[in-house]
Amino acid sequence: MPSYYLSENQTNGVYEIHAEGCVHLPDRYHRLYLGEYPNGRLALKKAALLCSNVKVCSECGVPELAYPQPFLVHQAS
Ligand SMILES: [Zn+2]
Repeated sequence: MPSYYLSENQTNGVYEIHAEGCVHLPDRYHRLYLGEYPNGRLALKKAALLCSNVKVCSECGVPELAYPQPFLVHQAS
């Protein structure tokens, strides 16, 4: 299973989750290790506990290209 990281860098107020090896993954001083997950969706669940506005990277976080929702944005209610 790939390791997933939460980027400390915000894009339009949204934090991004990246899998290990993603070109958009920040250096180790600007990311938080989330753990190993079979897919970005489960990593998103973990990250949603840590911050209120987070999404999976559109390049690395969606291993199944057929998955209909490449952008999974969690909004805190
Ligand atoms: Zn990425």
